[in-house]
Amino acid sequence: MNPLLTALRAQAADFIALRRDIHRHPELGYQELRTSDLVAERLKQWGYQVTRGLGGTGVVGQLQRGQGNKRLGLRADMDALPIQEATGLPHASCHTGVMHACGHDGHTAMLLAAAKHLAEQGQFDGTLNLIFQPAEEGLGGAKRMMDDGLFERFPCDAIFAMHNMPGHPPGQLLLREGATMASSENITITLEGTGGHGAMPHCAADPVVAGAAIVMGLQTIVSRNVAPLHMAVITVGAFQAGQANNVIPQTATLRLSVRSLDRNVRQLLNQRISELVQASATAYGVKAQVDFQGGYPVLVNTPAETELARTVARELVGAAHVVPQTEPLTGSEDFAFMLEQVPGSYLFIGNGDASTGGHGACMVHNPNYDFDDNNIAVGSAYWVLLTERFLVA
Ligand SMILES: [Zn+2]
Ligand SMILES: [Zn+2]
Repeated sequence: MNPLLTALRAQAADFIALRRDIHRHPELGYQELRTSDLVAERLKQWGYQVTRGLGGTGVVGQLQRGQGNKRLGLRADMDALPIQEATGLPHASCHTGVMHACGHDGHTAMLLAAAKHLAEQGQFDGTLNLIFQPAEEGLGGAKRMMDDGLFERFPCDAIFAMHNMPGHPPGQLLLREGATMASSENITITLEGTGGHGAMPHCAADPVVAGAAIVMGLQTIVSRNVAPLHMAVITVGAFQAGQANNVIPQTATLRLSVRSLDRNVRQLLNQRISELVQASATAYGVKAQVDFQGGYPVLVNTPAETELARTVARELVGAAHVVPQTEPLTGSEDFAFMLEQVPGSYLFIGNGDASTGGHGACMVHNPNYDFDDNNIAVGSAYWVLLTERFLVA
């Protein structure tokens, strides 16, 4: 076994306890007060220069060693989700309706475990920036930290992050060069018609019929405008209109989630959605407003940094436990903002599959999900070895 894995296994019990403590006390995006206190205290204790307040509850721990001028960034996320936990585990959430259902408790614990080992025994030369971000779940905490000057105050030559992934054996490391996670776009369409009596539609302009046509029409953008070898998703997750069977409502609202794995496809989708909605509205005699509420960019892993990550992964767990070029995912991740500015790579660590069963095999964002504590040693050893290989002593 790799000696680093042995070393990080030896200290894993403390960080499993810490992970479960964080799990018991989950906090939603931008409310990670207890969690960020805990992170900052530990980092200080181990000799890191700690900066707080970036993106609200974000924490950066910096450790410099030797004369080297290379700078590395490692990122973990700290936020939980508005889900009522159903695992029944002893360390289950003690906050009603809030739960670490995406394993960010594990991500935080893995990076802290690496932080301790690196401070005490790390063989590296240069500057290490450990970035603990708030609000990954849809609220763009990464972007907020960057708006607060993250990379101006803590410049990085490369940046890396890790996410656990149910459906794969625990400890398996999955990497990918290129587009890895989809962009997400949140769009609200408001249709303004003319309300009226349900028995006299000719005196009204019905936004429900217009909206129904738009829901169907939008799917033709995926099937007829996007090239068949590219992927796109347009989901109308909400369609709200009317309250009574005999009233034609004045307005209808559609809420869309739109995904793609290519910046140009994202642009095409936005353009075609606007055009199709406006043209359909005209056709049905209603007015339409299309609001683009932003989202996350495509997450693109850069080649050189992904190759380094692969080398480190193989050295640590052996090639048999590494997937060098895994499939991309249609989910989104705000680490994509960081990768737009700094080269780097985002990888997955298996959290359990049908063969292991249990809470670790349960999909993230499910009330029965739990992070697999066996990953703390592997994940933290990966961070240590990556640091030692990037900031070569
Ligand atoms: Zn999530
Ligand atoms: Zn997550």
